Amino acid sequence: GEPQINTAKCIGCKKCVKACPGEALEIFFTPEELAILKELGADTTVVEPTPEEKAIAERNAQYKNVWVLVEQTEGIVAEVSWELLGEGRKLANKRGSEVCALIIGAGVRNICADAFHYGADKCYLIDNPVFKEYRTEPYFRACCDMIHKHKPEIVLMGATGLGRDLAGAVATELQTGLTADCTELDIDPKGNLMQTRPAFGGNIMATIMCDKFRPQMSTVRPKVMQLAPISENPKSEIIEETVDIPATSIMTKVLEIIREKKGSSDIDISSTEFIVAGGRGMMSKENFSILNELADELGAVVAGSRMAVDAGWVSHTRQVGQTGKTVRPVVYIAVGISGAIQHMVGMQDSDMIIAVNKDKDAPIFEVANYGIVGDLFEVVPAMTKKIREAKA
Ligand code: FAD
Repeated sequence: GEPQINTAKCIGCKKCVKACPGEALEIFFTPEELAILKELGADTTVVEPTPEEKAIAERNAQYKNVWVLVEQTEGIVAEVSWELLGEGRKLANKRGSEVCALIIGAGVRNICADAFHYGADKCYLIDNPVFKEYRTEPYFRACCDMIHKHKPEIVLMGATGLGRDLAGAVATELQTGLTADCTELDIDPKGNLMQTRPAFGGNIMATIMCDKFRPQMSTVRPKVMQLAPISENPKSEIIEETVDIPATSIMTKVLEIIREKKGSSDIDISSTEFIVAGGRGMMSKENFSILNELADELGAVVAGSRMAVDAGWVSHTRQVGQTGKTVRPVVYIAVGISGAIQHMVGMQDSDMIIAVNKDKDAPIFEVANYGIVGDLFEVVPAMTKKIREAKA
């Protein structure tokens, strides 16, 4: 039936307007009500904080600056770290604080120069052979030591295998909050990090705050945030730290590293520039040959929706979406994909989206820059043919 507003209880806070998934609510005030609201707004009565609130505020005030863990494997930095430095810079600017890189590894001093390049104000460097290969124990002990000592207000890590593992261990040890897989970060005037991420199976975006504990910790997937701009006047302050973690005190030992065999499934779709993705509309694994042909012409990589992955048509490393990878290519061509929210959160920030679907009402068209309504078995070969003709 008609939505009813309980006018006796409504205080006009507009929270319901934001919460309504159908965006069906609007609140209007009469001139008389506006006058009352103005009067209330002018009320300067100061509400005294409770002793508990005071204690929290005092404790929180000891924490300052935004830290980004610069993740490296064998000296090669995960690009998400530079993306996070860019995001960290924005947050630090709002707080009037600094963005600092935390670099842990063995023989990784040269990474500091890159971190300054990507805008770090300071680098905290822990260079020790014990950190040669990633192991949770020494890394998390080093992180916790540094956080105890320097008290950063915010700690950001990539939502990579390493970042997820480390962030969880650190947050547990420090007894603070961690929001995984954030898609947006902002900060309120009190310094509370507003961490937005999909919740309830991607059906709503939840903004999570951790106002009672510090540091505030988030992980963010690769390609969600934009790469930091290159600093014109890079800083150079390296703070070298040592941690006392004897190799013998670590329970895990790396005996051998077995690398994944090079093959078609090992391409990282989160760093490809052209993607052709197929969904349930492809109907079979064999039909993916028409996508392969289009991808070959474009120099693109073939990926898929979860439906296509579950059906065994596409490897799981190529799944785009909430439980797959987040991609941000120059061009994303979605073929026979309906555009479920869980798929769209993984590709909606692509520079250009082209969708092919026979259903003109498919949600994918809402995010597409170019939409082709038609049968993919006609449209895709026609696209390939056109490209071949243009190349000839
Ligand atoms: P469908 O929704 O079935 O769409 C097929 C489309 O193909 C339709 O729009 C149809 O019109 C079109 N079509 C059919 N035949 C043709 C033709 N001949 N020509 C042109 N168009 C045609 N999904 C993901 O993709 N990634 C995720 O990471 C992911 N994570 C999830 C996590 C959770 C917790 C949950 C609950 C779901 C998740 N899903 C994910 C699943 C998601 O909800 C959808 O079910 C899925 O994305 C649908 O895949 P699809 O678009 O290929 O299939």
